[in-house]
Amino acid sequence: MNEKSSSCICGRLLACEAPGRTGEKREFQCACGRLYDFEFREAGWVQGSSAITPEARQPLTGFSRDLKASEDCRRYYFFHSIAGRRLPVHILFSPSAEQAEVKTGDMKALRIAPVRSVVEARRRWIERFDSLPARRGGRPRHSSRRGVFPAL
Ligand SMILES: [Zn+2]
Repeated sequence: MNEKSSSCICGRLLACEAPGRTGEKREFQCACGRLYDFEFREAGWVQGSSAITPEARQPLTGFSRDLKASEDCRRYYFFHSIAGRRLPVHILFSPSAEQAEVKTGDMKALRIAPVRSVVEARRRWIERFDSLPARRGGRPRHSSRRGVFPAL
């Protein structure tokens, strides 16, 4: 149990030396670009959840056109436990528009706005997602009702 030894997937140490208040949350970006959220506990800054990794390319189907078109639009992904498996969840985020869309698998993208950072977008998506009733059978049910996905 060594709270100071959080390290990024890339191997760099994530050293958070700044003082904080218990319960305070802070975003931390590694030199490689990955984002983390940290929470201050008695012993110091503790990594709250897994990395958010920037990605150059990702499937953009299912995201709304106006968000995709915004010039400062950035893409990220992180892993989340869904129906017992760790699956990639994609985030499209525009700082200027303060909008994000978050989506996994064939689920409809969830729009989150206003939102100031991709870390905040993830936090809010997880809160929403984890409050949904458990899915049956470990396999997402068909949810494409509205032509968001390419037609068969
Ligand atoms: Zn890193």
